[in-house]
Amino acid sequence: MEYESIIGLEVHAELLTKTKIFCSCPAEFGGNPNTHVCEICLGMPGVLPVLNKNVVEFSLKAARALNCSILEECKFDRKNYFYPDLPKAYQISQYDKPIAVNGFIEINSNGNKKKVGITRIHMEEDAGKLVHVGSDRLSGSTHSLVDYNRAGVPLIEIVSNPDMRSSEEAKAYMEELRNILLYIKVCDGKMQEGSLRCDANVSVRKKGSEKFGTKVEIKNLNSFKSLQRAIDYEIQRQIEELETGGKILQETRLWDENNSCTISMRVKEEADDYRYFPEPDLVSLFISSEWIKNIDENLPELPKNKRERYINQLGLSEYDATTIVNSIELMEFFENTIKLQVNPKLVANWLMGDISAFLKEEKIELKDTKLKPEILKEMIELIEKGIISGKIAKEILPEMIKNGTNPLKIVTDRGLTQINNENEIINIVKKVIEKNPSQVEQFLNGKEKIIGFLVGQTMKESKGKANPELVNKILLNELNFLKK
Ligand SMILES: [Zn+2]
Repeated sequence: MEYESIIGLEVHAELLTKTKIFCSCPAEFGGNPNTHVCEICLGMPGVLPVLNKNVVEFSLKAARALNCSILEECKFDRKNYFYPDLPKAYQISQYDKPIAVNGFIEINSNGNKKKVGITRIHMEEDAGKLVHVGSDRLSGSTHSLVDYNRAGVPLIEIVSNPDMRSSEEAKAYMEELRNILLYIKVCDGKMQEGSLRCDANVSVRKKGSEKFGTKVEIKNLNSFKSLQRAIDYEIQRQIEELETGGKILQETRLWDENNSCTISMRVKEEADDYRYFPEPDLVSLFISSEWIKNIDENLPELPKNKRERYINQLGLSEYDATTIVNSIELMEFFENTIKLQVNPKLVANWLMGDISAFLKEEKIELKDTKLKPEILKEMIELIEKGIISGKIAKEILPEMIKNGTNPLKIVTDRGLTQINNENEIINIVKKVIEKNPSQVEQFLNGKEKIIGFLVGQTMKESKGKANPELVNKILLNELNFLKK
């Protein structure tokens, strides 16, 4: 029997506001334990939360970039549970009136484009962090320490519809979502540091069936790789369970990266277990249409639009456009270079080709190098003007990237400027013809392809400096002359 998998994602994104959601403590990551804290985020009695307006602004940006509708009125609720990382024993979240609903993201998974719906986005506060001593989990540790620096850091939770059917689609969704959040600068997207976290809801059903199977929530997915592997594992586990007559339990499971499997954590809570009720210390929030209009007008160009513009207007291939757009660093460098009136296709070729290859080999990132858009522009212009060949450009690229040296200075210092003087090239060509009589003979006997070899020899003889077009032309001239 064939099965179909149903996947939905719940993504928590920490917002890049300066201060926390209900107090003025810094929201930044790190700091000595329990130094970014006050009476409010520690849950002392008698204090009152005050909503940070920037949290609403950032949430609205995310909501509009994700094509959501903003509810006219939204409110905060208390989600009650007892755990040492939660000083008040409740989390201020949003339950039945979230800030935004009904959005979507368009994804492209291996060439298949589809829309994944977004059910809702709500604002909430983060909990503190437990550090288990002697183990990376509670089990096996001797004791645990608690750090409340993260308590009260603003989060948005973005809940997708169960629209994804494979781990590839889930990964494509997560990548596009992360890109959008990075483009609008509301979240730093660091999955390893936990500022962007993802839980996956996975169920399977027999193909053709309308009814959803029992869903299992998987936690601890802190990279795209673990997201994909965990979902694949879970789909297989559920199918095997059903095929051997077992039943799927509604539970929360943890992805164990080291052992490549999911393990049962706890039976899944229902909303009732959290005894949600309206937060009495905060009033409802009414968001004006002017505010939304202002957000819409100031959203930057989003990844999807950028990708389409690169392909349709700048003539980039889909692969190049996608790769550049998917890296905000590459994208900004690309945009800053073409702003200087350089041919976009050439810029893309260099960025995607030799520059990326060099960075990969040296294991460094573009931002850690001294390469500047102005330097790349100058190099491309030197090639266009015929002062250097593409081959020489490749040679000087490492120094440009490492030291930020002006390309004209490098070629002048090293004597690498292209030879465009015809007489000089004729001399080199004559030498090559003299040195390779048998290849010349073959050419004269009609094996014209051999000219490639002779061009190569001439380039080699000139140490790569001869203008290749001139070499071609002059070689043909000389050889044809010999024919007569
Ligand atoms: Zn505080």
